[in-house]
Amino acid sequence: MMYHKASCLVCGAELKYEDNYTKTRCHFCQEEFESDVTCINGHSVCGKCRRPLADEVISQVCIDSESKDPIELAVSLMKKPEVPMHGPEHHFLVPAVLLASYYNLRNEPDLKERRIKSAQRRASNLLGGFCGFYGNDAAAVGTGIFISLITGANPLSKDEWKLSNLMTATSLFAVANVGGPRCCKRTSFLSIIEASNFLHEHFEIELPITKDIKCVFSPLNKECLKDNCPFYNETSKSP
Ligand SMILES: [Zn+2]
Ligand SMILES: [Zn+2]
Repeated sequence: MMYHKASCLVCGAELKYEDNYTKTRCHFCQEEFESDVTCINGHSVCGKCRRPLADEVISQVCIDSESKDPIELAVSLMKKPEVPMHGPEHHFLVPAVLLASYYNLRNEPDLKERRIKSAQRRASNLLGGFCGFYGNDAAAVGTGIFISLITGANPLSKDEWKLSNLMTATSLFAVANVGGPRCCKRTSFLSIIEASNFLHEHFEIELPITKDIKCVFSPLNKECLKDNCPFYNETSKSP
């Protein structure tokens, strides 16, 4: 069992991660579901109740932020209690931080807000487990959503269509090459880095992205690859 300081959405107490999934009841909707995390006072929140709360925080922070560094923005969101260690919340987080940084760099706040709302709607179709069950890590798909939105791609477009699919392919390649098991932090970081490189290569846009990422989330991740993860930092403490 592992404890950390990330706080319970219900009471703010510490969360504890069990080794196995057990049946528990959601504090908000009262439905039974399987979970490996409860707070020390026994609270659990199911994905259906948690995701709208996370989406709201991600959307609002990205709309309000003036950061041009998508990694800095991603890490600050990953530390919020609404965003769990793993989960489909990251499928929206990735395009949201990229859109925020991109439109902050271009100083287009109105467009930024509209595009972030669109990304939220699109990402809501990407369910948990896409990485393992569909061979299609949804953090990588999030970078395709990002390029689709900034180029205005649709199913009938030519160059925009190409770029959007090329973006997802590039991110998936980077994600696949490190190997499993899942880690929503690792695949988000890898995908965001690929998107930043892609902007440089295809749009001549330079985001001031954090270069040397030292992950602070490994103590929360039972499946952490440790030395085999490019972002592992032995001295990191739980956020
Ligand atoms: Zn609690
Ligand atoms: Zn619920």
